[in-house]
Formats: sequence, structure tokens, C-alpha cells
Amino acid sequence: MESVVARSIFSPATGFIRRGGFAWTCNPYVGCTFGCTYCYAMFLPQNRRPLEQWGRWLAAKTNAVDVALRTAPKIARQPLYLSSVTDPYLPIERRLGLTRGILEALLPHQPRLLVQTRGPLVARDGDLFRQWQRVRVNLSIPTDDDQIRKVFEPHAPALEDRWQAFQELRGQGIAVGLCVTPMLPLSDPEAFRRRLLEAAPEVLVLQDFHDSQGRVGADTGPKARERLRGYPQVAEQYAALLQRLRRDRTVYEGEAGFFPP
Ligand code: SF4
Repeated sequence: MESVVARSIFSPATGFIRRGGFAWTCNPYVGCTFGCTYCYAMFLPQNRRPLEQWGRWLAAKTNAVDVALRTAPKIARQPLYLSSVTDPYLPIERRLGLTRGILEALLPHQPRLLVQTRGPLVARDGDLFRQWQRVRVNLSIPTDDDQIRKVFEPHAPALEDRWQAFQELRGQGIAVGLCVTPMLPLSDPEAFRRRLLEAAPEVLVLQDFHDSQGRVGADTGPKARERLRGYPQVAEQYAALLQRLRRDRTVYEGEAGFFPP
């Protein structure tokens, strides 16, 4: 792992995050060791490394907490998205505590906080989220099958660990959303539908997973495109799940689901 010295830690929101109503983003790390094969972050200009290396490198903004302590007042009570081009709860976060340090710096200033993660480590910070006036933690759980998860997100945490983090945070009274984004192939769509409904997340977001023919920014990535060909049923599964879920509750689709608490 490398270290970088960050000049700033809160950046003006851009793209779909800005369109969703966020003013700021925060990324404690550069790169992401979860290395999802479809990750849009690998296509962004910040990534100057070859696409095939995505997931194999990481840089920590080692001065992130100092910078956050100095600059947190400027984003007081404004909508903040944590994180847009990395995951704030990577395994290294357990040792470095950058995300936690940033949250502690932000707490007195109470931005409207959305935490977006695949990392069950997020449950560690429930004590901080409980002190927030407006916060939502979004956990990404894109399939019901860990074997499929390993095909597309080989280094991301096991699905059941994410469900456990969901329950732990909910048990503490924290608003938690579920993001089936992008929806990967499912093994038992009906059981997954029931589980999503029974979980009753604060916000439920679905997004389809398709080969966008190399369109940068919305692309699924070369590895994901290749692997997706083995699952022709995914489009039909997506349409059916969305339709059935909508009989019972509000489901946001894609960008529409990413809005501040
Ligand atoms: S966890 Fe998020 S940022 Fe990290 S590789 Fe996966 S999609 Fe990209």
C-alpha cells in the first residue's frame, strides 16, 4: 500500500452524485482493493493506471484526518457522499482508521451524511452514526449467491457479513439502505425478493447490469463484460425482481436512489 498526502479531503460533488443533490464527496483512499470487475471508478481520470490493475493497488491519504479536522466546518450541514471512488470500509481501514477519524472530525458539524459501502466494517462506526441528525448507511448487496459474487467481486466481503452489518446498524436505530447495484445474477430470485422485503431497508435501490458496449463511464468493464456472457438470464431476472418488489414497496432505480438523507 502506498501513502499520499492529500491537499483536500472534501471535494465538490460531480456527475450523478451532484445530480442526486450532494454538495461534497469524500474519499479517504485512492483505488479500491475490493476490485469489483464492473467498477465505474476505474474509468475515471483519477485512475491513471491500466484497467487490468484495478483492485491490485491502493493509496491511503495518510493526512486525511488532519485535513478533515481543519476543513470540516466548511461543509457543515451540507450533503456529503462517502465515498464516491473508493470504499470507505476496506480491510485496511481497520488498521488505519482514516474513515473513522474523518467521521469524528465531521461529527460536530453534522453534514447530511450518506455512507456507501460493501464493507461490513461499517458496523464498527455505529456509535458515531447514532450521534448524527441526518445519516443513512447504504450497503451494497447485489446478489444472493456468494459464488456469483466471487465471479464479479472477487475480493469484496462475503454477502452474509454484509447482511449482518445491516442488522447490526438497524439494531442501533440507524437508517440503512440496501443497494442491489448492479444486480448480479441470482440463484433464487424469489427468496431474494422476500429477504429484501422482510429486511425493510430505509431505501431500496436496484440497478441493472448490462454490457454497455464499452461506453466509458457507464461501462461494466472488460472483465465484467466477459463474465456476464455466462449469465444471459440476468436481464430477465432484473425486470421481474423490480416489477415484483414494486408491488409491495418503493424501489428506486439507478441514479434516482442516491439522494441525501
Ligand atoms: S467497492 Fe465500490 S469503489 Fe470499490 S471496486 Fe467495488 S464498486 Fe468500485
